Amino acid sequence: MPVSPAYRPAPKFAELGLDYGDPVAPADFPMTRLRFRNDRAAATVGLDGLTEAEWLAHFGRLQPLPGQPGPIAMRYHGHQFRTYNPDLGDGRGFLAAQLRADDGRLLDLGTKGSGQTPWSRGADGRLTLKGGVREVLAAEMLEALGVPTSRALSLIETGEALERGDEPSPTRSAVLVRLSHSHIRFGTFQRAAYLQRADMLEALVEHVRRLYHPKVVEGDVPGLLAAVRDAAARLAAAWVAAGFVHGVLNTDNLNVTGESFDYGPWRFLPRYEPGFTAAYFDQFGLYAFARQPEAVFWALTQLAGALRPLAPVEALMETLNGFGPAYIAALRGAVLSRLGVLSAGAEADQALVDAALALLREGGDALRWEPLFFDWFCGFSSAGRALAGPRGRLYQGRTFDAFRASLFDHAPDRPERLEAPAFRADTPEEMLIDEVEAIWAAIDREDDWGLFEAKLSRLGAARDAYVLAPDARHRSEQ
Ligand code: AMP
Ligand code: MG
Repeated sequence: MPVSPAYRPAPKFAELGLDYGDPVAPADFPMTRLRFRNDRAAATVGLDGLTEAEWLAHFGRLQPLPGQPGPIAMRYHGHQFRTYNPDLGDGRGFLAAQLRADDGRLLDLGTKGSGQTPWSRGADGRLTLKGGVREVLAAEMLEALGVPTSRALSLIETGEALERGDEPSPTRSAVLVRLSHSHIRFGTFQRAAYLQRADMLEALVEHVRRLYHPKVVEGDVPGLLAAVRDAAARLAAAWVAAGFVHGVLNTDNLNVTGESFDYGPWRFLPRYEPGFTAAYFDQFGLYAFARQPEAVFWALTQLAGALRPLAPVEALMETLNGFGPAYIAALRGAVLSRLGVLSAGAEADQALVDAALALLREGGDALRWEPLFFDWFCGFSSAGRALAGPRGRLYQGRTFDAFRASLFDHAPDRPERLEAPAFRADTPEEMLIDEVEAIWAAIDREDDWGLFEAKLSRLGAARDAYVLAPDARHRSEQ
């Protein structure tokens, strides 16, 4: 590959040594056909100049990029639906590379569906094409909505026939590569604690502190927990403000940077429904929409438990107790950002959150998250557009009046964003299950990728409208 100056390899995880991961080999796929190439994301790490042949070699055949040590299947444990599982680990993926992005952040290239590893537990190590398409759609939608998320970099169809219980089978196979700000999970710490390896815990803490939370002072374990807590609180708040249900908030699916990743049975809310559950196998609704903050908090308590050999229990508990206030503040921030308005002080901001949620509750099927935030983006600057638009008749009554009053207490944040083409449409981009299934059906039945590509292009326009602005890119804390 012609190495561009923007390509900056930084294989830091390997520095931890062989106790944390295993060198593995990718599967030898019968075919590699490019289905999605994210050149915008690739450009942030100097990989946009790859030819198609190079792209397929690195992201389909998984040949290591220059300066990288080769694939490492990461070791971790975790609680799955609150039951401890010491047999987890990267069973169908690996860490393929680590790079510095243009904003200074350390990013992982992680695979999904790249073949069996020591942690496959008898399963095939593969990803279905539908699973890959769904992960791309989730990541693109969440990014457009300003949620801290991994990005799908590449999706390549691999020509195998897979058997799955939750898809008509045989079903097509794929390999996905994602860019994520760390794949070090709460479960990575849990494994070291389970093995009673204080030395490993210490090394992990310092690794994570130095690379991902450098504002924390060396040796300050509760301080590191607080940094992870705050990032996790911001993530949970961002999901709620986005109407997103991740589906599987096990401790192996939450990482130390609070960047959302691993999208399986996710859904966006079809209506205001706190108990809405995404995963069919989540019979008790443990990870239902409105229980996500609680699920994240529970996972944090497990992380804190893993850190006990390194810090006084009182200090860890006190840090955990900060989650509630951190989440509530983060939810205010997330809702304000989705409404495109500036803070008017905590009290007024909280009133706006409450008013928006009350309106959504009353709106039911008629008024979902996206239409509300789209119609009222930048507060009173959108009033004419919202009231004259297709949902104008919904905007009346006492609940709405309270919302409007509260919204108009807040100054618009960069209302010039309303000039973006996306705001000329009647309806915003949503990502409800019927559309996801329709996109997949066209691919499945006729190998027609048109709906998928059109959706991605519209999501790009939505992202440009909402997010792309001076403060929009997730900035490095470094
Ligand atoms: P997930 O629910 O995708 O977070 O996966 C939970 C665990 O199961 C992880 O250790 C995965 O690597 C593993 N896993 C899931 N699907 C497969 C598969 N098809 N083959 C091997 N391991 C898998
Ligand atoms: Mg996972």
